[in-house]
Amino acid sequence: MKAIIEERTTHGRGQGIFALQSFSKGDILYVGVLDEKPVSNHSHASQISKTTFGFHKGLSSKFNHSCDPNCGIALNDSGGHDIVAMSDIAAEDEATFDYAMRNYRIEHFTAKCGCGQARCRGSISGWKDLPQQRKDDYAGFVAPYLLEMDRENAAISREPELLLLDR
Ligand SMILES: [Zn+2]
Repeated sequence: MKAIIEERTTHGRGQGIFALQSFSKGDILYVGVLDEKPVSNHSHASQISKTTFGFHKGLSSKFNHSCDPNCGIALNDSGGHDIVAMSDIAAEDEATFDYAMRNYRIEHFTAKCGCGQARCRGSISGWKDLPQQRKDDYAGFVAPYLLEMDRENAAISREPELLLLDR
């Protein structure tokens, strides 16, 4: 099978993944396959459900983070994360996604973000810290358990109000 992406050395950001052909919005660049059993939160693990973390095989971990990415995440039937084009991508472009698209909290990337985008938020933060506008921008390209977690947390924070109304 002809390779459609390739690992290369970036300018100043270590290894990254580059497109070898053009992609249209919605195209899958890489099919995510989980490697091991779920593990506890770990610097190289990614969140794979509301409560579990895991590793992906192959090139999945080589995609760099960007605060203004051209790819997003789709959960596939095996539970892995496919990397999906969120906008049109030209051959030779680096393919990136926002690590907040699958991690509710990010505790292992404390250094400054080096994505270099005008929209850079300064550090690689998790989904819970994204402004609502950014969450809306990413609609359809994030792991669905993040939306569930948002709904649950919203329900928890509404509870005292509901109790008050019951009286
Ligand atoms: Zn950034």
